[in-house]
Amino acid sequence: MSIGKKSEAVKVVVRCRPLNKKEEATNQERIVEVDVRLGQVSVRNPKSSGSLLKTFTFDAVYDVGSKQNELYDYACKPLIDSVLHGFNGTIFAYGQTGTGKTYTMEGVPTDPERRGVIPNSFQHIFTHISRSQNQQYLVRVSYIEIYQEEIRDLLCKDNNKKLELKENPELGVYVKGLSSVVTKNIKEIEHVMNLGNQSRSVGFTKMNERSSRSHGIFVITIECSEMGTDGEDHIRVGKLNMVDLAGSERQSKTGAQGQRFKEAAKINLSLSALGNVISALVDGKSTHVPYRDSKLTRLLQDSLGGNSKTVMVATVGPASCHYDETLTTLRYANRAK
Ligand code: ADP
Ligand code: MG
Repeated sequence: MSIGKKSEAVKVVVRCRPLNKKEEATNQERIVEVDVRLGQVSVRNPKSSGSLLKTFTFDAVYDVGSKQNELYDYACKPLIDSVLHGFNGTIFAYGQTGTGKTYTMEGVPTDPERRGVIPNSFQHIFTHISRSQNQQYLVRVSYIEIYQEEIRDLLCKDNNKKLELKENPELGVYVKGLSSVVTKNIKEIEHVMNLGNQSRSVGFTKMNERSSRSHGIFVITIECSEMGTDGEDHIRVGKLNMVDLAGSERQSKTGAQGQRFKEAAKINLSLSALGNVISALVDGKSTHVPYRDSKLTRLLQDSLGGNSKTVMVATVGPASCHYDETLTTLRYANRAK
């Protein structure tokens, strides 16, 4: 890793979850090792007889026992501070289904120890606001789902309506007709998050399948107005996108066919478009950043690159049965730094 040249605006961290009950019961071997001090993750190929290790270095790595607030404080807090100062930022959770994306982003919101990035950001934002003296804040929330390249508003009663992406010189890229709810405190914003989460599951019997195949994007827009020394009101607007991405697993493993296969192709398309955008931004030499290749990257265009900060949390499982997927995730994350 070339620390000197690397873009400060993009941080990539990796988190490994503990072995689950089923993996323990089937005596799965642990093939992932995490060196927190060096920021390294190593995976051992269970198919090779030698101890063939592949090692990757990231901005930070989190082992099986890591706490939610460790990840929040180092990887996410500075980004949320910059949003409070009028910049845009995006936090992604990327990884195979079942590796802890939702645990990392949402966790258990009612438990201070186990609440994830999204509820921790609520705490951070409203504490900051309550301590401010000369500023007025307005906090608005939107909650979007992208499923099969179609956009839905999770805060609208008619959540089956498909919304369109539009673009104009003044607003940039935006979702036409998207709800935006003003929230004045933690209780209100938690309530809105819960409504959106419920709406994500309504009408779909296989909720888990659906959520693992769609991107959930929780957007907080923070407007701050302050009287300048010139006696005029100055307004800064920052936007925070927190994205629980669709599962990154290769669909061949699950034998996807027909509709499933088309769906899988669209998921792979948007995840690879995202990888291409981030790697073009990090590279710094690319003249073209391919935002237009997917709905996800178009939608996030104003919050990726430029003055924006980006955090990618790549999640992996420790068990040998997931060797291929784990390696694929680490390679994807490695390309983003
Ligand atoms: P994903 O959203 O990537 O499909 P989940 O967040 O639903 O995965 O996690 C799958 C299971 O593993 C859940 O039961 C979750 O509570 C548990 N889990 C995930 N990450 C961790 C972690 N870091 N520590 C403890 N349990 C975890
Ligand atoms: Mg999930």
